[in-house]
Amino acid sequence: MWYDYRFRAYPDRTGVTAEAERHIDIHRQAYNHTRYEYDTLDTDEDKVGSAYQHQKRLTEWKDEWPVFSQAHSKALQKTVERFYDNLSNLSDKKEKGYKVGELRWKPPREYQSVTYSQSGFELKNTSGRTAILWLSKIGDIPICHHRSIPDNATIKEVTLKKETTGEWYVTFSLEVEDNALPKKPDVDDLDTKDCVGVDLGINNYIYTSDGDSVDWLDLSDEYDRLRREQRSLSRKEHGSNNWEKQRHGIAKVKRRIKRRIEDFQHKLTTWLVKEYDAVFVEDLNVSGMLQSEGNARNKQDASWRRFIEMLEYKGDLYGTHVVQVYPRGTTKECAECGVETDKPLWVREHSCPSCGFEVDRDANASYNVLARGLQELGLGQAEVTPVETATAVETDGGWSSSVPASRVIETGSLGA
Ligand SMILES: [Zn+2]
Repeated sequence: MWYDYRFRAYPDRTGVTAEAERHIDIHRQAYNHTRYEYDTLDTDEDKVGSAYQHQKRLTEWKDEWPVFSQAHSKALQKTVERFYDNLSNLSDKKEKGYKVGELRWKPPREYQSVTYSQSGFELKNTSGRTAILWLSKIGDIPICHHRSIPDNATIKEVTLKKETTGEWYVTFSLEVEDNALPKKPDVDDLDTKDCVGVDLGINNYIYTSDGDSVDWLDLSDEYDRLRREQRSLSRKEHGSNNWEKQRHGIAKVKRRIKRRIEDFQHKLTTWLVKEYDAVFVEDLNVSGMLQSEGNARNKQDASWRRFIEMLEYKGDLYGTHVVQVYPRGTTKECAECGVETDKPLWVREHSCPSCGFEVDRDANASYNVLARGLQELGLGQAEVTPVETATAVETDGGWSSSVPASRVIETGSLGA
């Protein structure tokens, strides 16, 4: 299994920024040249048409254009591969019915990274906060080493990237051999107490069948700032130096927002997979679900998908079952008797007209997610009826122990 670790990088501190930029530009030219040859050379001659075939042309390139000899050769192969990866992504999209054009020639602004694969890199001085990434042909790059690469992981690829903000980042693609991953508990041995249903909420970010809820992250300050910066941009002369500077400022705020959300999602997902043996969550890929419910979650769709993705790969990393369940009707359906009742968004309580079961709206949904997850694993739902859960929560003196999002961020109370 593969996953990524990302670190801020500071090539300025060792004076290798110019060299890094120069190398990225060589790779940009290699990418564009791959595209050019793909368009013009006869694919029947087997010279091009696949990354593997095309990589064989690199020797010829180097003879003709010495600049390509200056790049690390494995990284150069990777750049050729990048073109073919983009090509296959494009045809995937086309197959799904998207309108797509051709792969375009990349100007410098749109090509800002280089990937080293298998060799040509080394991570050094990892004991302190600042580690060093050595990249062949470029040199030593200090990185902010805020977490260690896990012992069971191997670094397969390293990508150095300059963001539009001017900040540099390094992404390590890590591989963990399947036999080095912790084993997930046998389904038959699962205790329902160690299983949890997670409702992806509108009023809460998540609400669990154990009554834990976490608020939405408060980003109002960041969004205020973003609006201010955007207003300021509109007052500047398009294309001027100040305008360009302002654009960088905006990119920076957006990046900060993105980072805060990611950090929040990392902490929550890690907490869930450490705390439970099985985590159940709605499957957002059931087509038409979000549209048909016409709810406020539409615009959060991408954020939820990322959350579920994280949950899934962490399930593998920590040995926890993560199961996506059929999502339709989890809010409407009564967790006690199964009768469906329409609930407008502002109705906070689930109050069943059929059996009289009363509980918080999101709690009801989370019980349904739990029951569906257990069923999916073949465990049935007899052992954990919502009544049992609801009663247990009630005797604890309240529906939920609500955790404000700020606490997750500031103290990491839900685990790192
Ligand atoms: Zn009912």
